[in-house]
Amino acid sequence: MTTIDSLQDTWDLIIIGGGITGAGILRESIRMGLRVLLVEEKDFAWGTSSRSSKLVHGGLRYLKEGKFLLTKAAVEEREHLLNDAPGLVEPLVFLAPIYKGHGLGKWALETGLSIYDLIAQKRQHKYFEADAFSRISPHIEKNGLLGGFRFFDAQVDDARLVLRLMNESIALGAEALNYTRAAEIRRNANGEVIGAVIEDTETHAKKAVSAKAVINATGVWAERLHPSPKAKLHLRPLRGSHLIFPSSVIPIKEAVSFVHPVDKRPLFVIPWENVIFIGTTDLDHTEDISHEPYMSAEEGLYLMEALQSLFPSLSISFKDCLSCYAGIRPVLSKGKLEPSEESREHVVWVKKGLVTITGGKLTTFRRLAHDALNAAKPFLPPVQFPEPDEAIFSRVPAGPPDPDVGLSKETWRRLYGRYGMSAEELVKSASPEDLNFIPGTLTLWAEIPFTAQHERIRHLDDLLFRRVRAGMLTPKGGKAYLKRIKKMCAPVLPWDRKQWKNEMKNYLDLWNRIYGLPAEFSEKSVIHPSRWFEKLTKKRKLKVSQNF
Ligand SMILES: Cc1cc2nc3c(=O)[nH]c(=O)nc-3n(C[C@H](O)[C@H](O)[C@H](O)COP(=O)(O)OP(=O)(O)OC[C@H]3O[C@@H](n4cnc5c(N)ncnc54)[C@H](O)[C@@H]3O)c2cc1C
Repeated sequence: MTTIDSLQDTWDLIIIGGGITGAGILRESIRMGLRVLLVEEKDFAWGTSSRSSKLVHGGLRYLKEGKFLLTKAAVEEREHLLNDAPGLVEPLVFLAPIYKGHGLGKWALETGLSIYDLIAQKRQHKYFEADAFSRISPHIEKNGLLGGFRFFDAQVDDARLVLRLMNESIALGAEALNYTRAAEIRRNANGEVIGAVIEDTETHAKKAVSAKAVINATGVWAERLHPSPKAKLHLRPLRGSHLIFPSSVIPIKEAVSFVHPVDKRPLFVIPWENVIFIGTTDLDHTEDISHEPYMSAEEGLYLMEALQSLFPSLSISFKDCLSCYAGIRPVLSKGKLEPSEESREHVVWVKKGLVTITGGKLTTFRRLAHDALNAAKPFLPPVQFPEPDEAIFSRVPAGPPDPDVGLSKETWRRLYGRYGMSAEELVKSASPEDLNFIPGTLTLWAEIPFTAQHERIRHLDDLLFRRVRAGMLTPKGGKAYLKRIKKMCAPVLPWDRKQWKNEMKNYLDLWNRIYGLPAEFSEKSVIHPSRWFEKLTKKRKLKVSQNF
């Protein structure tokens, strides 16, 4: 495996940032035949790209804001990815209940969903009267229910999307180093970019690498390397959090799009990987952005309030909760709007070979990649851009290989989606007992040692939060499974007994701080959140926006 010391010096393009934006640019530039290096300061997908709502969606709310082109681009990308990445990007059925005097009415939604369908060129939404709607979704609040829509969007495993792009690019000759930060952009006397100084964040080994073009795809951190050229437009870090529950607690098959009972913001309850999560909040993230973000108690209460109002008969409480997570949106702001009113569009800034791309959405990563590469074109060797409808991922079989080992068709689809053709090697190298699911998840045990061996992990949290998602999907971060995980991975990881002990300790500490519920909830989960929410809203003057 390449390290900073064995890395070659000269490249056509250096990409800084290993989230979806950087990974998309890497994948497209290797298809164009460029010699390309990506560096990521922490782990691949460590930033916002493993902490999203995991939707590949058009964004109905953008239509309401008159952002037709944004929705059009996102719906077109959704359709493209559904074709291109089966098993990774999958259709998701949504229900949108309509309540008297609450949220969008029937005709507003009908208009939005018709435009959605028009762009996708398929009619896929349907209205149900209240009785029929309650039959489809029996746990939803019936009081004031007028009816509701069923429509389609799509969902993804966000971190695996990044990793699939990264792995396929590396297989085709790209280089990508995690735990390697761009410490400095190198420029000549005229201020033109000539490369970057990169540093391994753990060994502190440094190296000057050369390229005429550098793309800064560092999301919410972008202004650290390239301050905004517009005095009044800056990155505004906005935090969004989610709560995760086992599907036995919220037994639903379809996602639900609804509005919060207090501030009328849109929220989603989403089935994903055998769990159900609710999100998201949207508030200024005032903490240091170099630290891993976590959900505050207020956000937890806000989300719980919404869940209890939507599913009053399920008696959901914090003690049912598996975990939570928070991410920071890279949102460009002129500083005047409520968080949820800020634009989700991306920007591209160019300065003498340094191209910065930030903002935008996971869904439209391919468009962002093309915009960034177009801006970098004058500094690159001559390149041919891929056609817009060309597949970005390598082709995988539509069904199980022959002979099969008895895994279901769905499991093969999921494995091909996440690992591309490497899925076959993953299964071949697994012992029969590891071809079973980790309890409560759709993840095979065999994915753990395979990714540990092949996907450049340095720490246990890389493995359990991003290569597989067991850290978020199993009780207490999978504490009960750590011995088995150690046994499976010891032969493929260079860790001695002491390091295993440290890795496990650090992993569990991290889980408690970031993915576990805030300490406030452990003792007081019996108190009804409405009362807490009221108290906190008053005490901390939590601002609730009336805007959709
Ligand atoms: C709560 C929430 C929900 C969302 N839900 C959705 C959704 O459902 N669908 C959707 O389409 N979008 C969604 N988004 C938006 C989407 O997640 C982001 O737009 C996207 O992940 C941003 O990706 P990125 O690669 O630009 O940034 P990031 O993923 O943050 O990647 C930037 C990377 O740069 C690295 N970095 C920083 N500085 C350096 C340096 N000096 N050297 C090397 N590396 C560096 C960081 O460590 C980081 O990993 C959501 C966002 C949030 C916060």
